[in-house]
Order: sequence, then C-alpha cells, then structure tokens
Amino acid sequence: MALVNEHFLKLPNNYLFADIAKKVNAFKVMHPKTDVISLGIGDVTQPLCPAVIEAMHRATDEMATRQGFRGYGPEQGYDFLREAILKNDFLPRGIHLDIDEIFINDGAKSDTGNIQELIRWDNSIGVTDPIYPVYIDSNVMIGRAGTVEDGRWSNVVYMPCTAENGFVPQIPKDRHVDVIYLCYPNNPTGTVITKQELRKWVNYALKNDTLIFYDAAYQAYISDPEIPHSIYEIRGARKCAIEFHSYSKTAGFTGVRCGYTIVPKDLTAATLKGERIPLNPLWNRRQCTKFNGTSYISQRAAEAIYTPEGKEQVKATIGYYMQNAQKMLSTLRSLGYEVYGGENAPYIWMKTPSATSSWKFFEQLLYGASVVCTPGVGFGPSGEGYVRFTAFGTHENTEDALSRIAKWSIR
Ligand SMILES: *Cc1c(COP(=O)(O)O)cnc(C)c1O
Repeated sequence: MALVNEHFLKLPNNYLFADIAKKVNAFKVMHPKTDVISLGIGDVTQPLCPAVIEAMHRATDEMATRQGFRGYGPEQGYDFLREAILKNDFLPRGIHLDIDEIFINDGAKSDTGNIQELIRWDNSIGVTDPIYPVYIDSNVMIGRAGTVEDGRWSNVVYMPCTAENGFVPQIPKDRHVDVIYLCYPNNPTGTVITKQELRKWVNYALKNDTLIFYDAAYQAYISDPEIPHSIYEIRGARKCAIEFHSYSKTAGFTGVRCGYTIVPKDLTAATLKGERIPLNPLWNRRQCTKFNGTSYISQRAAEAIYTPEGKEQVKATIGYYMQNAQKMLSTLRSLGYEVYGGENAPYIWMKTPSATSSWKFFEQLLYGASVVCTPGVGFGPSGEGYVRFTAFGTHENTEDALSRIAKWSIR
C-alpha cells in the first residue's frame, strides 16, 4: 500500500491568493459592470527591459545553430552569470565570494522551499511574523512544523513584527531556535533592517549555532545607503547564513525564472555526534541530484541585467514602481491611515482603521471602492489588523485605485 505523506494534509487547504480570487469573483458576479483594480497580488506589470530582450533573442538564435546549441548546462549555473554576480552584486560591497558558492536557480521560491532538506527533520525553526508563507509551508510538508492551532504551528517560533515594536523582531530568548528565516526588505511589510540590527542576528546565530536563511529578493529596491543589501555585509555571516536572490522583482523575471542562492564554504551544521559538516557540498549534491539547471536563455537574460544598459533600464523600472509606492504612502497618509514600508520596498503595509480585522477591511475596500488588497493575516498571526498594497501596478491603475480609496474614505 502506498501511504501518503500525511504532513501535506496539515497544510491549510486555502491558499491565500486563491481565497482572495474567490471573493473577488463573487463580487464581480454581483457587480458585472464594475471594474476592479488589484493592488493585491505581488506580480510585476512592466515588460522586460530591452537589454534583457536582446540577450534572449541572441541566446535563442545561438540555440538554433549546431555550434551554438546548448543542452544540459551545469547544475550550478553558467560561469558567465556567476562571474557577473560576483562582480556586480558582491565585490562593490566588499564581499568576496568564491564562484562555487553561487548556485543559479529557477527563482528564489524553489530554493527557499528546498533548502530545509539540508537540516534534520527535528530542528526548530523561527520566522518573523508576518512572513512569506513558503518558509513555513515547506517545513510543514516534511513534518518539521508540528501541529497547527489558531494559525500557529507548534514547532515554529514566531517573532512578531508590528507597529508596536517598530517592525524590529525580538531575538528569541526563552527557546533555542536552530534555524531562522529572515527576509529583508520584507514581504509583506515593506520594512527594512539596519546593519546594527542585522549584526545582532548574526552575532546571535554565531553564539547559538543557529543557521540563518536570508531572503534578499527585494534588495534591488533599497535606496537608503545605510541599509544592507546582503547579510554578508556583516562580519561572520559567512559562517552562519545562506542567502537567496531573485531576478523576479529586480527585473521582471516572474515569468522568465532565474535567481541564485549563496552557500558559503565556511558554513557548517553539526551531526548528532558533533562533527561539523560543510553545507556547500551538500547543497551541490542536492542540486546535482534534483535539479538540471536553469535554461541557458534565462541565464543570458539575467546576465544582461549587469550590462551598463541593463543596469540603467532595470533601475528605471524599479523607479517606476517606487513612484507608485511614494504616491500610495502620501495619499494614504493624507487620508489618515497608518502606513509602513514603501520606502525601500515595493510594499505598503497598512493598519486597518479602528482595529477592523484584515478580512473585514478587505471586503469593505472591495465592496466600497472596488480595490483589492491582501489581508495581512494571510501572512501570519501578527498580520491581523493589517493589509498589504503592492506598488507593482501601472501608474494609471495605482492612481485610479488611490482616488477610489480617497473617495470611499472621505464619504
Ligand atoms: C517574490 C518572492 C520571492 C521570489 O520568487 P521567485 O519568483 O521564485 O524568484 C522570494 N521571496 C519572497 C519573499 C518573495 O516575495
């Protein structure tokens, strides 16, 4: 008899965005003439930049010739891209990496979900709350998260990030945590971490033998020069942290699929007997067994982001989204809403007025203004009483949505 992995059955069967879609559809059926504007889902809207498109065309043409054709590539990614990453994302920040410490992937979701395979099933995990759901759900699937009650997993340590603590998570005191997931700039709150705060986490990890999984998917949105783009800007992080990058939000690669993971060679985890095992060869082994590389065309596309034209064009698109963010911040503030994030990240995190629940406010906004937001509680218990707006819309839609919200709020 084939027995099912019952851990899957513990997962909440409602995926947040499916729930939202259901409610929006119900609204549309009842109001067929109203057009709904979504400031909800975190997908980008602007097309790929010309430098990327040209690189993809070139790569496609190469593939059409006998000499230029590429079959299976290296599981770790092509050196042309790994070198471009070293030279552009790390060296200018004083970070020296070895090329074998970079693993190209098909997006950060895969690796943030898969990385937990490297650690024993009974490690404890800690997450900032609210958080990108992939971190917890991937641990649930292999039975590491325990059982769920009131949206909280028994083997997960939640570190609340709320307006009350300035969205700075407290380092866990009463319970040892083996693995901690951090994401900065943060999805969903749009908040960032300073070097001093991040240094506290690295020091905690080094002292307590904790592993940090650091998701830097939004680092390209940082404009404040004091905010770290990589955890390796902090001394000692090479010994305690794995870092994830993605071209999805950086350069509109949500449909192209490419990102990378850094697994430093100094990073180790212990066996039960106390022997230290380097994680870099383990991750390499895992990738060689379960992954056959990212497409050549995608990797050439990613490489093009690092050309002078590519850099400029990508920056312009990020600027476009951040103009939305600024407009959202100023409009929502002028309407009296309490809003956070949006300065170094494409997300606005808004406290609902009069402590309305996230889902209640979601419905009020949908039915009152025909605007879709994302209920904060969908990202974790501390997200209750908040909603998330994304800056990934077009200028037109964003402005239209804001004037609807204004009209509805002032009514
Ligand atoms: C969007 C996102 C990712 C990256 O997704 P991919 O498209 O798989 O690269 C990773 N982490 C967070 C927090 C995200 O919001």
